[in-house]
Amino acid sequence: MKRFCFPCLVCALAMLAGCAPRPYERTAAALGLPEAGCRVEGRLVTIAGDGHTLAFEIGKRPAVVDGVRYHLNRPAGAEGIAPADAALLRHALAAPGTDAVSSVPRPRLVLLDAGHGGADRGCSVGDAWESQITLAIARETRRLLEAAGVRVLMTREAAKDERTLDDRVALAAGAPIDAFVSIHVNSAANPAAKGVEVFTLPLPGCDGTAADAKAWPAPLAGQAHLPQATRLALAVQRALLTHPTGPAPVDRGVRHAHFKVLRDTPAPAILIETGFLTNAEDAARLTSPEGRAVLAAAIAKGLLAAFDAAP
Ligand SMILES: [Zn+2]
Repeated sequence: MKRFCFPCLVCALAMLAGCAPRPYERTAAALGLPEAGCRVEGRLVTIAGDGHTLAFEIGKRPAVVDGVRYHLNRPAGAEGIAPADAALLRHALAAPGTDAVSSVPRPRLVLLDAGHGGADRGCSVGDAWESQITLAIARETRRLLEAAGVRVLMTREAAKDERTLDDRVALAAGAPIDAFVSIHVNSAANPAAKGVEVFTLPLPGCDGTAADAKAWPAPLAGQAHLPQATRLALAVQRALLTHPTGPAPVDRGVRHAHFKVLRDTPAPAILIETGFLTNAEDAARLTSPEGRAVLAAAIAKGLLAAFDAAP
């Protein structure tokens, strides 16, 4: 609990008079959950009700939104999360088709970006290369989306295709796409690092979840589409956290970074890290056709869940 300061004394007096706001009521209202209840345990705060739950820790960015880890753009404060974070989540959590700001409307055209390619093969372990894995997952995701009636473009079709980041952004800018989905594979020096994560841009003026090397001008092109991107990111991350036959991937959360394809794509854009090739459990999923099919099915399922309605 925070120290008893003058405004709290005012609140306490108002509470005695029966008209005080509940703790974090402002955040609940900003989330569009005015009837939600609030539980405070030390520095941990949980707001739950109206079908949604937000848990956060005062002073920290990691939070949990409807059971999915989500990194706030700013650390939560004693009065709740930043208004801009609450507004973004309110739009992202609205039921499909009910929120004009975050809806992902028809016609549904998705640009799938298989990370790396050509001479840039990305990360590797043994004879497994990121560029091959991302292409396999993207192809299967395309098949599933097309089967569901979604039109799909690919930034590259073959392992030999060279595509610069500028090429990929130009493709995104040259078509009326509803979503840009970049697929990657992670690696780390620590073989214990594992799990899935989905990136969006941070809000204007905010840092990424890893230390940013530079301050970015604001606003960036992609930031105009953050409500939709956040909706897509949460839905895809949620879908990735299930595995029908093997162990479920670890939830590393929806995170934020100033990746070029997120900065410069003039459409809702997400970048998916589908697991760590340097971790045995994740690598088993990434290097098997069955595991990649599960990942592709999750990506397609998440995207379809975020769209306004079934095609
Ligand atoms: Zn990559």
